[in-house]
Amino acid sequence: MSDRVLYLEPCAFAGFPLDPADHLRTDETWIAERLADDNSLFVVFHNQKPLMDVSDKKLPMPGFLDCSQIPEEALATAVFMGLLDKHAVFAVELGNCISEEEATGDTAKFIDLRNVAIQLLHEEFSPLPALLGKAKSLLDWHTRHGFCAVCGVATEIGNAGYLRQCPSCKAQHFPRTDPVVIMLVYKDDKMLVGRSPGWPAGNYSALAGFVEPGETLEEACRREVKEETGIEIGKVDYIKSQPWPFPSSLMIGLFAEAKTEEIILDKKEVEEARWINRAQAKMLLLTGGTDDMRLAPYSIAIARHLIEQWVAQRD
Ligand SMILES: [Zn+2]
Repeated sequence: MSDRVLYLEPCAFAGFPLDPADHLRTDETWIAERLADDNSLFVVFHNQKPLMDVSDKKLPMPGFLDCSQIPEEALATAVFMGLLDKHAVFAVELGNCISEEEATGDTAKFIDLRNVAIQLLHEEFSPLPALLGKAKSLLDWHTRHGFCAVCGVATEIGNAGYLRQCPSCKAQHFPRTDPVVIMLVYKDDKMLVGRSPGWPAGNYSALAGFVEPGETLEEACRREVKEETGIEIGKVDYIKSQPWPFPSSLMIGLFAEAKTEEIILDKKEVEEARWINRAQAKMLLLTGGTDDMRLAPYSIAIARHLIEQWVAQRD
């Protein structure tokens, strides 16, 4: 087993590796020149799956294309991602332009982004999932926001992909991020873990839920835990956060101290919840768990970081 301490690293999809150069997004001349520049690099997606270069059998890498390989239609909706040294980097979605087979071959394939992140982060932290994740979230937002939410007219892309403008009512629409609280609930030497309906049998993790309008993070945390498990929360501490591009959430990781222990489940939200003590949690993490219980088995999820950190702090 490696001596890697996962929770001391940024989470998967954090650590965006480019200079965002956001002052250049409104420079339409510069953006137009870079879209036609052979030195520009294009991160390519097909139905939200990034194109990966798989010629190195060990690790897939983003398969950057140049502008000559991008259909005109996709160039018109390219999103500027930033600068990599002197190269402008754009993201494009090809799903509406060409078939998956046309853009792939023996050395290039479109791969689900979760799968890509798991492979890239298997041995050490990589910032590449952050580039692909941000690109995916932005491209997906454009795909789903083609019409004005105010008047229904088709909107137009602006600011190199960071705006949609309505030509009729002039409303401006900006890419959204949905905040989600994810909390490790603890009391004394015990932590609370739960499983949602539909998860693989035996998988348990931290509780989570969307922040509602008008709520602080603390209030969202207390409401979600009370709704799902009947447990009352007192102190709430912020730990770390994670962009989660499925489609565009921000996971806000918290430690939440319980004031009560009795579990009253809302089975629609949480199929089962249990208190486990630190020694049990540590053993489940070390061994990978049993058929009966595995703790946050996906290392790319912030839940794993929160659980490992809480267990380590109690040592
Ligand atoms: Zn409008």
